[in-house]
Order: sequence, then structure tokens, then C-alpha cells
Amino acid sequence: MVTPVSIVKCRRYDDEEVLEKLRLSIDLIGGIGSFVKKGDRVLLKPNLLYGKAPEKAVTTHPSIIRGVIQIVRENGGIPFLGDSPGIGNSVGVAEKAGIKRVADAMDCPVIEFNRPVLPPERKGRFFKNIEIDQAIFEADVIINLPKWKTHAQMLLTLGVKNLFGCVPGQRKALWHLKAGEDHKIFAQMLVDIYLMIQPSLTILDGIVGMEGNGPGSGDPVPLGLILASGNPLILDQIVCDLVGISRNSLMTNRVAFEQGLGRNGIEVVGERVEDVKIRHFKLPNLTRVDWNLPGFVKKAFKNALNSKPVIDQEICKLCNQCVEICPPEALKGNEKGLVFDYGKCIRCFCCQEICPEGAITIQQGWALKLVGRRQRAEGRM
Ligand code: SF4
Ligand code: SF4
Repeated sequence: MVTPVSIVKCRRYDDEEVLEKLRLSIDLIGGIGSFVKKGDRVLLKPNLLYGKAPEKAVTTHPSIIRGVIQIVRENGGIPFLGDSPGIGNSVGVAEKAGIKRVADAMDCPVIEFNRPVLPPERKGRFFKNIEIDQAIFEADVIINLPKWKTHAQMLLTLGVKNLFGCVPGQRKALWHLKAGEDHKIFAQMLVDIYLMIQPSLTILDGIVGMEGNGPGSGDPVPLGLILASGNPLILDQIVCDLVGISRNSLMTNRVAFEQGLGRNGIEVVGERVEDVKIRHFKLPNLTRVDWNLPGFVKKAFKNALNSKPVIDQEICKLCNQCVEICPPEALKGNEKGLVFDYGKCIRCFCCQEICPEGAITIQQGWALKLVGRRQRAEGRM
């Protein structure tokens, strides 16, 4: 079976231009009628990490939301929108991100994900007991609307990672705690969540993306692209091609490939990858520890390999969000500001993800830096 992925150029967040390019991106993969039927309840799942203005590129842009609501409506679908933000609630985050205003104007309800249920079909490989929000199972169609961003733990957050927001609030932190020590395990969890949700359509907002210290405090970067596909695993692979990294370097891809997923034929439609490649896209300082080294080497070099979060006290505004989200309570305040208890820290990097000031960065262990340099030199990254 061949799965198409469309790549369409879109220069800016002008509502008319975005609508036209969204239509094109969906038409190229079969048209909205292949995904939405008259009377379908259509859940839109944007990236609502936390409440920032659209130009910060933390959340899916309101122009994308507006365009998708319109297209769904034109085909007789009944759209509603929901997410479980990293901090705060979806209505509050949607307000700050400019999405609520658009949704209200178009009569599209914004709901909270606060009804955890076990999926009726446990399709994951290992993580079969993750509770997903009930709204997912009440919808006839799910349209996944990720933002193209870097992610200090997972390298990039795209179509598959965006679905982690379907796990309601506090439970996300718990699953971070369970799976966050090993990135491969975390990636497996993300793939399992994807298998339980399987959105009908994924549209990636890559008009302005985020590079550097993502997903919350990186730098907005104009990329000028919208991608669409029925399969986010396939779409994520094409983004790897576009930024010039191997498909395997995205851990969710690697885990999926090992299970024989995402390996069906891919047909790129619209722009050709080689014509719209993103040059010099700044990836984050990776926090990965799994480099396929033998177990005894990993053990011996554990500390040298281990990355850790570090805080810049001059940037920190003592807002306490990192303290509140830290699953093992490894962050405490003292007279100098916040300090980490690295003995307790499980390296889930929720604190780096949530910090609105960009005060937390990831410091790599010395051996990890050496391995990374060598892999880059060998062209494996
Ligand atoms: S490090 Fe960031 S999230 Fe933590 S208290 Fe400081 S500003 Fe807030
Ligand atoms: S300090 Fe940060 S990385 Fe460490 S456990 Fe807490 S949230 Fe996770």
C-alpha cells in the first residue's frame, strides 16, 4: 500500500492564503471527502503546549485552525477542538494562543481533556494501559494538527509526538515518570499511543516552525511549508528528509520500523523534497542516551553519558511551573534560587519543556558529546 504525503508551500499566515494551501494539501492526498463525511463529529487536536502568542511558534497557528474548521464544515463535518496542555487548561491556552477567538467566531467548541479512559481496543505493543481522553473515542474523525518544532528529548515533535496531548493532564506526568528515563521506551510509548488513536488526517503547521531549544523556548523559524498525510508516521519521515537527517534518528521512527510500521510505500505529492529542503535547521542539544552501545559500556559511562537539566538563575523568574510539573519533586528552592537534586531527577525533561522563559537547558555528559560529534562526522545524524 502506498501512503501519500503532500508538501505545499505557504509563505505566511494570511487566512486566505492558508485556506487555499490547506485545500491544496488535502486535495493532493485524496480530498477532504476521503476523511470526513456529512454529520461526522470531527475532533481537531492542535499543539497547545502552553499559552503563548502565535508568533512564538509554540502552538499551532490560529490561521491553520480557522482553515481546517472551514474545510471540515464545508464537507458537513461537525468540528470541535481539544487538547491537554503541559500546563494550564486547553481553554486558557487556546485563548492566549489566539485559537479560542477563532474557534468562538466559527462556533467550534474548545473542550478540556479531563476524562481519562482505557481505550476500547488495546493496540499498543507494551503500553496497553495508558488512559486516553474519552473525547478521542467519541469522535468519528480525528484531525491531528501538530506544529513543526524541535524537542530536546525526542529531537523533533511532529505528528506522532503531538498525540501525547491526548493523555489527560496529570497522567502525562506519570507516564513521563514511567517511560522518561529511556528515550527508546518513551518513543515506544508514543508509538503505542499513536496506534490506539490512529488519526484519520495529520496536517503539519510548518509555515513558521521552531528550531533550537524546543519545544517551548526555541526560536521561531520561517519554513514556509504545510504537510498533510493520512499517516503521521509517514509524514514524520518526510520531515526528517526535509531537514537532512536520517529517518532513523527520530526515535519514534526507529521504534516503529522495528515493529514493521511506517514502512509502506511513500508517495510524496506536491513539492519535491529536494526542491524545498530546509538548510541549516538548528536541532536541539540531544538528551539521548541510547546510542546502541553495548550494555557494559553504557553502564560504565552512565554518568558521562547522562544529560541533565541545568538552570540559568539570571533568566529564571521563579514562576514555579517546573517545580509543580516535576514528577519526583527533584527541584527545590533555596536562597540562591532553584536547585536540582540530580539523585532524584529521572531526566524526563518536563521542566525544560514547560519553562516559559527558556531558563532550563540540557547539558550533555562529556561522553555523549564525543559520541555525538563522531556520529555527526560520520554523517549518521
Ligand atoms: S526555571 Fe523556568 S519554569 Fe522554573 S521557576 Fe524558573 S522560570 Fe519558572
Ligand atoms: S528536574 Fe526536570 S528532568 Fe529532572 S525529573 Fe524533574 S522535571 Fe524531570
